[in-house]
Amino acid sequence: MIDTKKINLKKEVDKLLKMKGKERGADYKYLVDYIIMKEGESGFGKIKKELEKINYKLPDDKKIDDMDWLPINLTNIFLLTAVKIFNWQKEDIIDIGKGVAPSSPLVKFFIRHFLSPQKTIKKATENAWSKHYSKGKIEMTKFDKDKKEIILKITGMDWHPFTCIYHIGSLTGVAEFILGKKVRGEEIKCIYKGDKYHEFRFNWK
Ligand SMILES: [Zn+2]
Repeated sequence: MIDTKKINLKKEVDKLLKMKGKERGADYKYLVDYIIMKEGESGFGKIKKELEKINYKLPDDKKIDDMDWLPINLTNIFLLTAVKIFNWQKEDIIDIGKGVAPSSPLVKFFIRHFLSPQKTIKKATENAWSKHYSKGKIEMTKFDKDKKEIILKITGMDWHPFTCIYHIGSLTGVAEFILGKKVRGEEIKCIYKGDKYHEFRFNWK
């Protein structure tokens, strides 16, 4: 269970501000839209206010273009603050991640152009990565049709641990969308558990 009362926003945000790398504006806009859908405009306002208390100002989402490059720490700070304010647990973070993939034009593009799910998931995740992030990479190290198992490995990302959970969701969303089946995802290796990279396993029935 995530003890959201124990999150020291100032301390965590200061740490995240040192994080390097860029991410497309579309990712931030997705988070803002999700919050407004789930918690209303007032929920979005709460996040803004909470961050202003520690002198962090969110950019004007109306002026952000999907293709703009923004600091990666923005989505991390936003997600972290949402978790704290709305007392979100792991399943809530997975849910927000899950919604991002089916809305991605890239995922739709690859579904139309590749026949096998294996190739589609590999290409869609690799391409989405390099289009959305200025650093790090994702690789599919396993696709076992018989065992109904996929392993995806993410290297070079030092984001907030909540973002690991968010990507359990985003990658589960991709797999479910492409396979057309209910998929269960988990993170099996993580830089915050002493591993050199993040690794995710996905299974279906
Ligand atoms: Zn991780």
